[in-house]
Order: sequence, then structure tokens, then C-alpha cells
Amino acid sequence: MTVYDVIVVGAGPAGSVAARTAAQEGAHVLLLEEHLQVGHPVRCTGLLSVRGVEQAGVSRDVLLRPIRGAFIYGPEGERLTVGGPAPKGYVMDRGRFDQDLVEQASHAGVQVVIGARACALTRSTASSELVFRRDGREERVRGRVIIGADGPQSRVAHWAGLPRPRRMIAALQVTIAHEPERPDFVEVFVGRQIAPDFFAWAVPAGPGEARVGLGTSQGPQIRALLDKLLERWGAPRRLSEESGVIPLGLPERTVTDGIMLVGDAAGQAKPTSGGGIYTGTSCARIAGEVAARAALSGRSDRRTLWEYERRWRALLERELRFGFQAHQALRRLGDGDLSRLFRAADHPQLLALLGEHGDIDYTSRALRAMLRRPRLWGRVLRAIPFDLQALLELLGGAPEDIAQYAKGESQ
Ligand SMILES: Cc1cc2nc3c(=O)[nH]c(=O)nc-3n(C[C@H](O)[C@H](O)[C@H](O)COP(=O)(O)OP(=O)(O)OC[C@H]3O[C@@H](n4cnc5c(N)ncnc54)[C@H](O)[C@@H]3O)c2cc1C
Repeated sequence: MTVYDVIVVGAGPAGSVAARTAAQEGAHVLLLEEHLQVGHPVRCTGLLSVRGVEQAGVSRDVLLRPIRGAFIYGPEGERLTVGGPAPKGYVMDRGRFDQDLVEQASHAGVQVVIGARACALTRSTASSELVFRRDGREERVRGRVIIGADGPQSRVAHWAGLPRPRRMIAALQVTIAHEPERPDFVEVFVGRQIAPDFFAWAVPAGPGEARVGLGTSQGPQIRALLDKLLERWGAPRRLSEESGVIPLGLPERTVTDGIMLVGDAAGQAKPTSGGGIYTGTSCARIAGEVAARAALSGRSDRRTLWEYERRWRALLERELRFGFQAHQALRRLGDGDLSRLFRAADHPQLLALLGEHGDIDYTSRALRAMLRRPRLWGRVLRAIPFDLQALLELLGGAPEDIAQYAKGESQ
């Protein structure tokens, strides 16, 4: 039986980046993907920050359009316009993005096997045995470290007994024939009647096409909600449909003896937007590095692998916890609260500030920028019953006068 230093299950963005990094560190790496075509079926809108595109190092051919801003619609149709001249991100061809990353892994020396579904894992101290099915046959391999990059419903996490993310949001999206009002702006729709507990979107894709979808905790209602949303565009021609789930709320651990989880398998998606490519691939670089070093040193116990847990949490935990808290706070608001919030936020200086500091990957940065402007922030705070104190604590404290606003001691 072949023994690998590192076996990665799942060739999504997180798996490919983890595998590539481990190979670059000198490890002998196997990457398994259950589907016959990498990147398909697509379960994504394909929106990635400029930072995320640069970090992935993919060919610019995968990029479809730059995105410079957003129209954000409230429950009563209120509209906020947030944006600026510089691209904040890109809409990309997600299938080709994933394929590009797998090619990079392959060039780095990773052995890639497609059409190979991992179906059992037996752990032991020095290495784990992984069984996978390919062409109707069972094959067995051993790995000193196994990286579960197998998405939100991770089997590797289940086999390893690792805890799961706190909440799953169901998502459904269709690509329609539609030329949006602005080809470089996304549209976001919030409201309990539109997308309970999350939000809906319309994102320009290829020429004459838009990706329209929504996420909600009310899975059984999702199709009816999407049909209702689509009425905004009359009866658009539906070109394709995709569904998926978005994991929210970090699990307590992503590492155990010989096993690491990364990407959606580790619940590393952003709770404010559901985006998980930038965060997952950021953590995957750390996972690949730590896994390779651990395997090559012959020590893959949980203490050694804990370096991954420590480093990815240092990088992103605060932001992801802030996002989860913001998600929790927003889902408690009724449509009346949301409408008041929209009216309060419809202020030129506030929108300019959001346009300047809004960051697809770090939502808290816009809030931090607002906190330095108490008068602007005060408008929003007076409009809705936010638990601002909890958010402030996650932001690591705030100037004294803002803290007073939070306690209702000022104005
Ligand atoms: C509708 C929707 C829209 C989204 N839009 C965006 C967006 O615009 N921007 C953004 O950043 N994020 C978006 N996301 C989230 C994003 O798609 C995920 O965060 C991202 O794909 C996570 O990458 P990953 O590599 O961790 O997992 P995945 O991309 O899910 O990859 C996991 C891979 O593992 C494979 N696999 C699973 N089980 C096995 C097995 N047993 N054996 C072998 N292989 C296996 C799967 O086939 C898959 O290829 C969206 C999600 C949804 C559902």
C-alpha cells in the first residue's frame, strides 16, 4: 500500500491550495476528488476580493468582471448605493478557478486522482488508512497526515469525530438571461420575507447573464423564496441552477491526531456574506505547511498539528467571530427594524465611508471606520436595537465616546 506524507480529500480551492503548499514544502502528496471534472458542479456565485484573486495566483482568464460596488435593498425596496472607482473584487468563472488551482498543485508535484471518492478512514498513531472508490473499485492508501477539505458536509470531520460548524444556511442560485443596471455592481436584498436569516443577491456574470440566488435557514421554503425573488426581473430565462450549503459559526477544534480540516469543512466561511474562498485558501496555506513539516518530521499527533489551529485562528478567528455575532444580531431584526436601519444609513457621509472602507473579506473594517465617527454611528445606533456592546468587545474595544453611545449614556 502506498504511504503518502499528506493526503488531501477534496479538490476545491482549500484542498488544492493545501496540497500545493504541502508539495512545495517537500512532501509526497495525494489529492483526491470525487467528481470527474474538477470545479463541477459549481456551487458558488464566484465573487472574490482583489486580495483573494492575487493570493490565489490564478490566470486572469478566469475573471469575468470587476466589481466596484453594491446596491443594497431593504425590505420596503429602500436602496443604498455603496461603492467607489476602484474594483473591490471580481466575478469569476468558478469552475475554471478550481481547475487552475488543481493545475498549480499538479505542477508542484501533487498526485491528483479525480473520480475518487473517499469512503472510510481508520486512524492510527503513525499514519491513517484511507479507502476510496474509483471506477467501481476500492483502493487503499496510507497518509501520515490527512487533510479534510471535503466541503461543508465533511465526511473526514465525521470519521475523525471533530465538531461541526454551528449552523448551515441553505443556498439556491439560478443563472438568468439579464443585463444588470450596472455591470460592475452587485445587488443585495435583505428582509424576512425575502431571505429569512440571510440575504439574496443578483450578481452580473458573463455578458447578458446574472447569478441570482439566496441563502436562508428555512431550507424547505427556499425554492418558493427564489421564485418570488425572480419576479423582480419579470419571467427571466433560467440558464442553470445550483444549490449548496454555507457553514456558519466556527467549530471548537479543527485538528486531531493525524487529521486537519480546512475550508468549509472547518467552517471557515464568512458569516456575513457566506464567502469562503479567500478565508479557506488563506487557512489552507497554513494547513499545507504545517502538515508537510509534521509528516516529514514523523510527528503528526494533535499537539504537533495544533500549530495549524493556532495560526489560522490568529489570522481569522476574530473576524469570523465578529461576522457570526453580526449575523446573529441582524437575524434578530424584524423588517421594521431593517427599514429604520436603511433610512438611518442613507446618509452621504456614511455611504462614502462604507464605499471607502468596505472590504469583502474584513467586514469589521467598515464598522471600525464608522466607530471613529460617533455622529454617523449614532444615527444608526438610535435606529435599531443592536447589541453593539457585544460587537465592540469583538472589535477589541472602542473609543470611550463610542462606548458611551453603546451604553445609551450619550445623546
Ligand atoms: C450558492 C453559493 C454561492 C457562493 N458564493 C460564493 C462567492 O461568491 N464567493 C465565495 O468566496 N464563496 C462563495 N460560496 C462559498 C464557497 O463556495 C465555499 O466557501 C468554497 O467552495 C469552500 O471551498 P472548499 O475547498 O473548502 O470546499 P468545496 O469547494 O466545497 O470543495 C470540496 C471538494 O471536496 C470534494 N469532496 C467532497 N467529499 C469528498 C469525498 N468523500 N471524496 C473526495 N472528494 C470529496 C467535493 O467534490 C469538492 O470538490 C458560495 C456558496 C454557495 C453554496
